[in-house]
Amino acid sequence: MTANYHTHTKRCNHAGGTDREYVEAAVAAGIKTLGFSDHSPYLFPEEFGNYYSSFRMHPQELPGYVQSVTALRDEFKGKIDVHVGVELEYYPKCFDKTEKFLKDGGIEYFLLGQHFIRNEADEGATPASWTPQDRERFVEHTDTTVKCIESGKFFYIAHPDVFKFDADDVFYKETVARICEAAKKCDVPLEINLLGFRGKRYYPNPLFWQVAGEIGAPVIIGVDAHDPRALLEADDAAAEAVREFGKFGLKFVERELG
Ligand SMILES: [Zn+2]
Ligand SMILES: [Zn+2]
Repeated sequence: MTANYHTHTKRCNHAGGTDREYVEAAVAAGIKTLGFSDHSPYLFPEEFGNYYSSFRMHPQELPGYVQSVTALRDEFKGKIDVHVGVELEYYPKCFDKTEKFLKDGGIEYFLLGQHFIRNEADEGATPASWTPQDRERFVEHTDTTVKCIESGKFFYIAHPDVFKFDADDVFYKETVARICEAAKKCDVPLEINLLGFRGKRYYPNPLFWQVAGEIGAPVIIGVDAHDPRALLEADDAAAEAVREFGKFGLKFVERELG
């Protein structure tokens, strides 16, 4: 594995290690490009009161994050290319303001990680794994992903199969085909997520990747490292994932940040 754009830091409250340890592990693993993409701070509107989002860094942590990663980028120049991005959801009520805040703060790239439907703190907002029988929510989540692909704002789509839906395989495939078609049309890669793969989660979902192979959507592998050790083990995990999902005729691509 020569590039990984999906790396977290302890700022999200559920990852371990220091920023430096991630870079050192990546160098040791032979990775040439390492992108940090921690769970993004979000500027929630006032109507959400003092809503606290526990799995992401806070807005006041953004400058320190960017500073730390860019200092490592300079220090390790020549050994590895280091970039600073975020993984974030698209929340209609707060995306635009947050996007500006992130870009002004020095964030280079966005990965879509649509862990929730609706605005996270809205009434009826649920994690993407909570309503596996709900067609309406599945369609809503899919609509959001397609819209984000078409927006051109996202470098790639992290775990595009994060919505858990197991009520009807035919309906599942028809629905996710829209994501794969959009990804192909807009040339935005879809990520096979190694954290899910190694942890034997419900994603990567073979049905999804079967459709991606049939349609010919661009596919990328992301470590989703929440621990520096995940980078050391990335090569083996990636090879195993390619063995398992490669049978669907996937179109693997490589990407560089402009
Ligand atoms: Zn995480
Ligand atoms: Zn994620």
